[in-house]
Amino acid sequence: MALKLFDLHCDTLTECFRTGKSLIRNDLHLDIRRGLGFERWVQCFAVWIPDEVRGDEAVSLFEGAADLLEREAARCPALRLIRSSADLDALRPGECGAVLTVESGAAAAGSLERLSGMVRRGVRMMTLTWNGENELGGGVRAPGPLTPFGREAVREMERLGVIIDLSHASERLFYAVAEETSGPLAASHSDARALCPHPRNLTDEQFCLIRDRGGLVGLNFAPPFLSKGKARRGDVWRHAEHFLALGGENVLAMGSDFDGTDLPEDLRGVGDMEALCEDFLRHGCPEDVVRRIFFENAYNFFHSL
Ligand SMILES: [Zn+2]
Repeated sequence: MALKLFDLHCDTLTECFRTGKSLIRNDLHLDIRRGLGFERWVQCFAVWIPDEVRGDEAVSLFEGAADLLEREAARCPALRLIRSSADLDALRPGECGAVLTVESGAAAAGSLERLSGMVRRGVRMMTLTWNGENELGGGVRAPGPLTPFGREAVREMERLGVIIDLSHASERLFYAVAEETSGPLAASHSDARALCPHPRNLTDEQFCLIRDRGGLVGLNFAPPFLSKGKARRGDVWRHAEHFLALGGENVLAMGSDFDGTDLPEDLRGVGDMEALCEDFLRHGCPEDVVRRIFFENAYNFFHSL
């Protein structure tokens, strides 16, 4: 089966910005060159704002990484920025459609104007927090509430059609946002807490809430989220199988976390995505469900924004 891939989260852009490496060809988990054989490929590139970076420094980190993505797209015809559903329609085999996303709303530095500026630059999805606390609320390691600014920000994100990403949110923040909003919610890179009790993973109740709201959950390849023991590529299927049993066939997607984490030794980067897809088929996952998880659910969701 020729692979169509839509991956909701990687940190490769931030890593390239930090190290000066090329997004097109590098020795990281992902580069553009390695995915060009896919039948279709849409990749979300997150700008990650670490918890010690705030204010103007967070703004310039966002702007610098967004500039880098634009520069790389300008010099590589196979790398196309995706800002609209028309851009998605125009994507062809042998191209990478790049979606700009943000990991931690600290990138907005507490300003709704900054937030709309980020959207004008192409941001389509944003996690409210990383692990700590920021202007919007608390992450998994600092479970503060949804702040008054956070409340305004999620309303503005809904108005602007930016996907509210609740990966990294504390449970308290997760439910506060669910109450504050009515549209679909996403968790771009989180696994099942029922299988691996890590605070970054989703409880069944959280998953079902996202399912009922017509949202998306991306499967994360980080070993500490996949397994309490030594994680293998096959663990990704275990988490998928669990979520499928909760009625997740229209919810699940990929959320690799490439270049934001270590990886299982048999899942070394984007070059192993075809092998992961084969695993799902070998475990008896029907081909149409595999297509939905690897591509269609996320594609349809982004297309409908
Ligand atoms: Zn993350």
